[in-house]
Amino acid sequence: MSELCPTTNIQYLKGVGPHIAQLLQKRSVYTAWDLLFHLPSKYVDRRKIHTVRSLPVEKKQNLIATVQKLSVRSIRGRGRRLFEMTVADNTGVAMISFFQFNESWLRKRYPVGQQVLIFGDVRSYKGVKSFTHPDIEIWDDDSDSEYKIQPFYPLTEGLYQKTLRSIILKNLESLLSVVRDDPRSVRSSGEVTVSLTEAFKYVHVPPESADIETLNSKESIYHQRIIYDEFFYLQLGLISKRYQQMQKETFKIINEQNLMREAKTQLPFDLTNDQENAVEDIKNDFSSGKPMNRMIQGDVGSGKTIVCFLSSLLAIESGFQVVLMAPTEILAEQHFKNLFPYEEKLGIRVELLTGSTKTKKRNQILYDLEQGMTNLVIGTHALIEPNVIFHNLGFVIIDEQHRFGVQQRAQLKNKTKLNKNDVSPHLLVMTATPIPRTLSMCVYGDLDLSIIKEMPKGRKPILTKVFREKGREKMYALIAKQLKKGSQTYFVYPLVAESEKMDLKDATDMQKKLSAVFSDYSVALLHGKMKSAEKEKIMSSFKKGDVNVLVATTVVEVGVDVPNATVMVIEHAERFGLSQLHQLRGRVGRGSDRSYCYLMASYAQSEESRFRLKVMEETTDGFVIAEEDLKLRGPGEFLGTKQSGLPDFRLAQIIRDGKLLTAAKKRAEVILEDDPNLQKTQNKLIKEIMLARWEKRLDLSLV
Ligand code: ADP
Ligand code: MG
Repeated sequence: MSELCPTTNIQYLKGVGPHIAQLLQKRSVYTAWDLLFHLPSKYVDRRKIHTVRSLPVEKKQNLIATVQKLSVRSIRGRGRRLFEMTVADNTGVAMISFFQFNESWLRKRYPVGQQVLIFGDVRSYKGVKSFTHPDIEIWDDDSDSEYKIQPFYPLTEGLYQKTLRSIILKNLESLLSVVRDDPRSVRSSGEVTVSLTEAFKYVHVPPESADIETLNSKESIYHQRIIYDEFFYLQLGLISKRYQQMQKETFKIINEQNLMREAKTQLPFDLTNDQENAVEDIKNDFSSGKPMNRMIQGDVGSGKTIVCFLSSLLAIESGFQVVLMAPTEILAEQHFKNLFPYEEKLGIRVELLTGSTKTKKRNQILYDLEQGMTNLVIGTHALIEPNVIFHNLGFVIIDEQHRFGVQQRAQLKNKTKLNKNDVSPHLLVMTATPIPRTLSMCVYGDLDLSIIKEMPKGRKPILTKVFREKGREKMYALIAKQLKKGSQTYFVYPLVAESEKMDLKDATDMQKKLSAVFSDYSVALLHGKMKSAEKEKIMSSFKKGDVNVLVATTVVEVGVDVPNATVMVIEHAERFGLSQLHQLRGRVGRGSDRSYCYLMASYAQSEESRFRLKVMEETTDGFVIAEEDLKLRGPGEFLGTKQSGLPDFRLAQIIRDGKLLTAAKKRAEVILEDDPNLQKTQNKLIKEIMLARWEKRLDLSLV
C-alpha cells in the first residue's frame, strides 16, 4: 500500500477485509480519512502492570494473572448469587467477583488456564486482594503490549478492540500520510502549536509520558489541535463565502423613504431602539450595492414582522418586488391580514399565495407577479414552486427560518435565479429561536446578524407556574377570572407522532370538558389535520374574540399573534423541549395586560423535564432558555436534526470547545482580510483543504 489518499476505501488498508470493512461502516467509517478520525473514546493506563504481590490496594490497577478456578455461590440470607473467579501468578492469589453475570459466557471466555489482564479498583478482603466487576481482557503472546496507554475505540458488535487497535497500528504511517496540514492555519504564537500529523499520531498511540487525565477529557493539546483544525476550515469557508457574496454586484435600493415614513405615521406604536437599529442595518445593506444576507434574531413577540415590512417598503419604492415566505398557512394568512390594510393606505399591491389558494385566483396572482403588478407577495412554500416567476424580485424575506428544511432553502436559492431581471435579490431571514453565538458562528457564519433583544414598551413579564393534576381546579378558577375580564386563553396539547391519534383524542375530549367547565364561554378546537378553510375560520374568530378559549395542538406554536390572549396552558408540559415551551409561551404577553403561562405536568417526570419546567418558571429570557436548551439537547436536536445544515464535526463540540472556535474564526478572518479570494500562492494549500472538506456543505447552506 503505497499511495493512500483521504478518500481511499478502508478495504484497501492492511488487515481490513470485506467483513471488517462492513463492521466499520456501521460506525460511518468508509475511507482512510474516516478511520484516522475514528478516535479513541477513552484511554487506560497500562504503564504499570503488577504481579499479585506488588499489587497496591488502590484504585485503577492492572494485574496480569492466570485463571485458576471458577465458581458460583449463594450469598447467605439474601437469595442472591455471586460468581467468583480465582486468578494467580507465581507470587500469589487474587479474587474477582461478579454480582451480575452470565455464567456460561464467563466460563467460555475465561477458562481455567487462560491468561488475563485485569483492570480495576483493588480492595483487600480477609487479606486477599480482590476486584469487583473489573475490566478483563484476554492476554496472550500477541497482545498489544506495545501500548503503555491503551486506547479504547468506539466499536460495533463483532468488532473487537484488539482488531481495531492492530489495524490502526499497522496502517498508522500511511494513514498519517494523508493528513494535509498548512501551518498557516494556526497563529504562530497561538495556543495550538503541534502539527496536525503529530496530533493524530499522539491521539491514536499516546507515548508513555502522556497525561492520562487530559487525554480522557480531550483537553490534551493534541486533541485541541484536531478540534481547532475542524473549526478553522469551516470558518474559513463560511467567511470566504461571505466575502464572495459581498463582492457580487446587485442593484441599489434607493433610499427614498416616502412609503416607509408614511407607514410609520400609521403605526399605533413607536419602534423600539432594537427595531430601529435593525431597520437601519437593512437600509445600509440595501444601499451598499451588495446583496444583503442578514438574519434577524429576536425573541418571540419582539416585533420582527414590522421590521421586515418597513424595510420591504424601501424595496417597493425602488420599484422591486418583495416576497415574504412563512412556514405555515396560518402564519402567512396572519401576515397578510396585518399587512393588507396598507395596500390602500400606501397604494401598493399585496397578495397571498398558499397551497390552498384557488386555481383561478392563483393564476391571476401568478400573472400579476410575472407582469410586475404585485409589489408584495406573502405565502408559504407554494411561493417556490417552479411556475412562480417574478418580474423583478428584489427582496426575499423568510420568516421563522429554522422551520424550513435544507431542501427548501436550496430550492428558494434556485428560485431567485428565475428572476426576470437576473440579479440576485437581497435576503433577510428571521428567527425567533435565539441561537447561542458559538452555534450560530458554525451554522450561519455566512450571514450578518441583527439582534432584537428589547421588547416593546409596556409588556409585563409573563408569570409562569407549574401545576399538577390535583391543582387543576385551582388553575381553572384562575382562568375563569381572566375570562371574566374579557381576555382569552389557549390550551395546547402536544402532538407526538407515535401517539398522534391518542393526543388528538385528548385535545378533542378536552374541548368538550372545557366547554362544560367554562360554560359561559365559547371553546373551540384547532388542529393540524383540519382543512385550511376551517382552521382559518376558527383562528379568525379567536382573533376577533368570538372564541374565548382555544384548545389546540402545537399548530399555534409558530408566530400566531392575538394580543388579547393572556393565558397559555400547556398540557403534558413535561413532553415539550425548552425552546418549544418558550415559543408556546410567547403566544401570550403581547398586549399591555399581565399574562400567565400554566404548565400542567404529570407526576412521573424525569429529572431533566423537572429541570426544564423550573427554568421556565424562573426566566422569560429567550437567550438564557436557548443556552440551557442547547446544553440539554446538543446542537443537532436543538436546531432540528438533519434539517439544520449543522456541520458534521467529528471531534469538535461547539459548546465545549467555544474558545477554540473563536480562535479559529479570528485566524480565518486575518487570512481573508489580507486575501479575500484566497488567490495568493501562500494560501493555495489552505484553500484546497477548505474546498475538499466543506465545498458541498457550503453550497448547501442558506444563501
Ligand atoms: P415576532 O417577533 O414574534 O414575529 P410580531 O412581529 O408578531 O413578533 O409582533 C408581536 C406584537 O407586537 C404584534 O402585535 C405587533 O403589532 C406588536 N409590536 C411590534 N412592535 C411593537 C412596538 N414597538 N410597540 C408595541 N407593540 C409592538
Ligand atoms: Mg413572527
